[in-house]
Amino acid sequence: MSTQHSLATTLVHAGRNKRFSQGAVNPVIQRASSLVFDSMADKKYCTQNRYKGELFYGRRGTLTHFALQDLMCEMEGGAGCYLYPCGAAAVTNAILSFVKSGDHVLMSGAAYEPTQDFCNIILKKMQIDTTYYDPLIGSDIAKLVQPNSKVLFLEAPSSITMEVPDIPTIVKAVRAVNPEIVIMIDNTWGAGVLFKALEHDIDISIQAGTKYLVGHSDVMIGTALANARTWDQLREHSYLMGQMVDADSAYTTARGIRTLNVRLKQHHESGLKIAQWLSAQPEVKVVYHPALPSCPGHEFFLRDFNGASGLFSFELNQRLTNEQTAQFMDHFKLFTMAYSWGGFESLILCNQPEEVAKIRPNIERKLTGSLIRVHIGFEDPEELIADLKAGFERIA
Ligand SMILES: *Cc1c(COP(=O)(O)O)cnc(C)c1O
Repeated sequence: MSTQHSLATTLVHAGRNKRFSQGAVNPVIQRASSLVFDSMADKKYCTQNRYKGELFYGRRGTLTHFALQDLMCEMEGGAGCYLYPCGAAAVTNAILSFVKSGDHVLMSGAAYEPTQDFCNIILKKMQIDTTYYDPLIGSDIAKLVQPNSKVLFLEAPSSITMEVPDIPTIVKAVRAVNPEIVIMIDNTWGAGVLFKALEHDIDISIQAGTKYLVGHSDVMIGTALANARTWDQLREHSYLMGQMVDADSAYTTARGIRTLNVRLKQHHESGLKIAQWLSAQPEVKVVYHPALPSCPGHEFFLRDFNGASGLFSFELNQRLTNEQTAQFMDHFKLFTMAYSWGGFESLILCNQPEEVAKIRPNIERKLTGSLIRVHIGFEDPEELIADLKAGFERIA
């Protein structure tokens, strides 16, 4: 596969080498703990090439894993892709691969909550300090870089509050102080394709593949795509931590990616339509959808992203009481309440302003109304709008 191909074509053809597919359209599901060697010479060859696509040991992967790793490298553009049992494992192992006691990590103050918890509990226990920064900090991030800073961790857009950081400015400012710092991004919202992280001088692009790569809410997996500078260390450290994923999950993920491009287009179209409708409703104070000017960092979204996915939030004019929250949330006909998103179905969650404030270290901006996060799936958008409208009537 040539890197000149468009995303649409790449997602259909990449990772389908005949060695992986054995004559079928899709790769084989090769389940294995042990892989057998024909001779001493073969064993020696496989050992030497154990991370270059030769079968060596179950934990190093089988043809099914190699097919997905190939596909991911073609899709995101990078030297290698490590597979983890879930997105959280990808985040934590990517960070752990590049820090030791006494080091310092720069972390978005609006990062996914378990990522913050990992810094506050696990990294702290290892005497690794975390400084949280406002994702809208821009070039001022340079002032937070310390001599012992080893990792800059970005997430774009932010979880729940959806700010889009000025990534090129932040990356440039940090590299100017210390070009060695490993820069990683939680790129789950953009599925590795709406924002091309490695083209923006980011070293590692991490995803909860659980969300859009799988796309059907039925498998958990994490991915970390690394550039040539960081790949060997990420791979060997993650391997030593025992990170791997079963062949069936790897197969299902590759299967999901075949339709990623068409799914994302529909998420974008339906999501934006509903976000625009929400913007016109008197009950709504602000819509935090990166493709709308009301979202902080909208200009960076327009400049750096190729489109939007289906996840966004909106702030109500009021903070709902517990009773109102139940009235609003308990009676939707199409939206269901759940945390993990990225599937074909629409979801809704309610966050109270004081709950959001607790997971926004070093960020001054405060919400006053309840924050509703939605994921827009593939239902008819008009029917989703009717469902939301009925919800507003319940809290009128
Ligand atoms: C869901 C999510 C994760 C964690 O993924 P799991 O597969 O559930 O472990 C990490 N980062 C972001 C932004 C997420 O939304």
